[in-house]
Amino acid sequence: MAYTALYRKFRPLKFEDMVGQEHITKTLKNQIMAGRVGHAYLFNGGRGTGKTTTAKILARVVNCLNPQNGEPCNECEICKEILSGALTDVVEMDAASNNSVEDIRGIREEVNFLPTKAKYRVYIIDEVHMLSTGAFNALLKTLEEPPEHVKFMLATTEPQKLPATILSRCQRFDYKKINNEDVVKRLKIICAESKIKITDEALQILAVLSEGAMRDAISILERCSQESADEITADLVKDLVGIPSLEIIDKLTKAILENEETTALEAIDNVINDGKDLYNFLWEVIKYVKDILVYKATKKLDLYSDTELTQIKSLAEKVEKQRLLEIIYQLSELEGSLKNSNQKTIMFQAGILKICMKRAEKPILQPRVDIIQQRVAKRQPEVAQNQVKQQSKPVTQNVKPTRDWQEIVDQLKKSGKIRLYTCLVNTTVEQLNDQTWEIIFPNGLTDFNKRILEEPNNRADLIKAIAMATGSEINIKLKDAKMKKAETTTTSSAFDGLGIDINVIE
Ligand SMILES: [Zn+2]
Repeated sequence: MAYTALYRKFRPLKFEDMVGQEHITKTLKNQIMAGRVGHAYLFNGGRGTGKTTTAKILARVVNCLNPQNGEPCNECEICKEILSGALTDVVEMDAASNNSVEDIRGIREEVNFLPTKAKYRVYIIDEVHMLSTGAFNALLKTLEEPPEHVKFMLATTEPQKLPATILSRCQRFDYKKINNEDVVKRLKIICAESKIKITDEALQILAVLSEGAMRDAISILERCSQESADEITADLVKDLVGIPSLEIIDKLTKAILENEETTALEAIDNVINDGKDLYNFLWEVIKYVKDILVYKATKKLDLYSDTELTQIKSLAEKVEKQRLLEIIYQLSELEGSLKNSNQKTIMFQAGILKICMKRAEKPILQPRVDIIQQRVAKRQPEVAQNQVKQQSKPVTQNVKPTRDWQEIVDQLKKSGKIRLYTCLVNTTVEQLNDQTWEIIFPNGLTDFNKRILEEPNNRADLIKAIAMATGSEINIKLKDAKMKKAETTTTSSAFDGLGIDINVIE
């Protein structure tokens, strides 16, 4: 596990080597020098912010034979034994896997004994919020009357899950996300000592990607260094974590701002063909639009080259702040709806088209089915390429299924889904609610048609066609109008794999 190696290798051994948490390390050092170390600490903060590192340093410094200015010497017998994990007086425990009453009772019995070698027995309990209720109660008894020779250091990412009784017994420290500058500073040291060559731009990207978690930053750095013996560049980092190039982000953004639907779909195709993740791509586009907005307001931006800034400037000049805000809002909405979608690619395309077509002064236009259909057709060579131009038409906010239905059915025929088309050709549709349409078979639903519609591939094609026409993911129910008594049955396992909710009404 090379990653662990680099992260472990560079775990700070002293408070002064920790970055971004000076408000905590300073207080702790002062307490140590004044001889006022508490008996229970709670370290709270996001992953990779330094909680466990603090606990380990603190465990050494309270036991160190030769502490200096509130720091452990890391040289004495005790420090060395703690560092190697040989000293049984310092116990590290992960509450995620040891959360039972018995685990904590073990501690309660142990604490009555004096430490074997060190001055204090130290218990470091990671992810302490994972303890069971019984275990919390057992721990509380120990925290209430701890023997002089015992220290507790609890770490958590979710303090709200801790009982108030535990919180009130601990000195609490809240860890901040580490800011980009500090992440870069630390990464530079690690790169220099590990002889890893890296550009400043690549360092910046690592910092942004880590979102304030040093461990993540080091982990990505390590993956990059394994990938390339040469200098790590911004492109290498982006490529490795699947961020599309700025060129393609710029292309889609420009297309959205200029309402260029075809170019927008091309850009999306490029991303898919490169095997990049659409979700990451969307996130990058949102950030880019936000940066254009920032540039418009402040006329400056960090993290971009001069050429890139020229592109941003030209986009910023073309568009109003209000429109940029709208786009950010719409893209974020799209991000939310992609999360729960089974048809991410189609929903992404439909969503982007919708934004392209939303011109402030005109009514919202419906996504152009023909354009997406052509895209889909490109991937399916057997499908007829002949597409009939469809008139864009204004629609209201709500989907009007009855009007769209005939077009959707016709589109199925045009795109070569003949079996589906023949099943649905004489049907109508009713909107049951925002997410559900009911397909009505006025002449009765035959077993043959039912079988075709229940086939997962056909079902997926139908859901896709509806999504492309409406921009929404719609569930389908089937209704046999000839049957007098409507009886709803939940369907067949054929749909389970699709995650689509289907009922057949017979
Ligand atoms: Zn020492």
